[in-house]
Amino acid sequence: MPDRAAPPVIELRNLVKTFPLHHGLFGGGRAVVHALSGVSFAVRAGETLGIVGESGCGKTTLGKTLMRLHPADGGQILLHGQDITRAQGSALRRLRRHIQMVFQDPFSSFNPRMTCGRIVAEPLEIHGFASGRAMQDRVGEMFAQVGLRPEQMRRYPHQLSGGQRQRLGIARALAVQPDVLVADEPVSALDVSVQAQVLNLMADLQRGSDLAFLFISHDLAVVEHIAHRVAVMYLGRIVEIGAKRALFSAPLHPYTEALLQAVPVPRPGAKRERIILRGDVPSPVNPPPGCAFHTRCPIARPVCRERTPTLAAIGSDHQVACHVRAGA
Ligand code: SF4
Repeated sequence: MPDRAAPPVIELRNLVKTFPLHHGLFGGGRAVVHALSGVSFAVRAGETLGIVGESGCGKTTLGKTLMRLHPADGGQILLHGQDITRAQGSALRRLRRHIQMVFQDPFSSFNPRMTCGRIVAEPLEIHGFASGRAMQDRVGEMFAQVGLRPEQMRRYPHQLSGGQRQRLGIARALAVQPDVLVADEPVSALDVSVQAQVLNLMADLQRGSDLAFLFISHDLAVVEHIAHRVAVMYLGRIVEIGAKRALFSAPLHPYTEALLQAVPVPRPGAKRERIILRGDVPSPVNPPPGCAFHTRCPIARPVCRERTPTLAAIGSDHQVACHVRAGA
């Protein structure tokens, strides 16, 4: 288990991200999408934090803002304690080596005219990590680590299967020995049988390394398989975060309970009444006031429409943002 007392590798403090909406001919307002509304967490060396939530809850924006692919509107991103939120130019380019990403569809992020070997070599060259013979050796080493055959270096991405392409994406991301790996729905486009192989590969590669791993997924079963800790997101906020064991066996937030009950796995430890999630996630353009979950929450109270709950500690590594469950 990762050392929770160790300083974080990556830390978000109150991260805020909005996107302006472009209106058509008749529009004139200033509507914005509230994608992230004050997200905070820390990930330590060797730790995997799973980020879960329904589509549109802000998970992908979170990954991209952390990667500095979107500029943050507020809050801080700290890498080894150093504020990188507004790094630009050469500082931002240097940073890219330390935070790498694996995408849901790696195919769209590969240059189809490059061989697979070249795809893994490219970041080594860009970041000045290795060149010449050392670069070739490193590419060979990465192919072996992710379970690709040496002759596949000469192939093109379209000649690989979906699972092999995801292995290639992982090899490219890890070749430069990043401190942080962000994987956004890395297995959701794969067949179930291949999903398990790729998940096991990622878990194996991280075991014994100092990598801080952020695993973003809508699929709780997948997150349960790979994460040490889990953060549940709803409409741009973290509503519950904690050690996987505590969160899965004794969830506190009604939204987490509803998500878990939708997973077809018996949970003998789960104690609370069954919660059926009604309706869709409200629009992030006009999120409900107070607790954004109150429009779907079966245990909502009047206070929930008025005050936004903040994360409160319940136990040593378990926090929930709920007026009722936090006992406020
Ligand atoms: Fe439900 Fe209120 Fe808790 Fe929000 S704060 S989850 S509305 S009980």
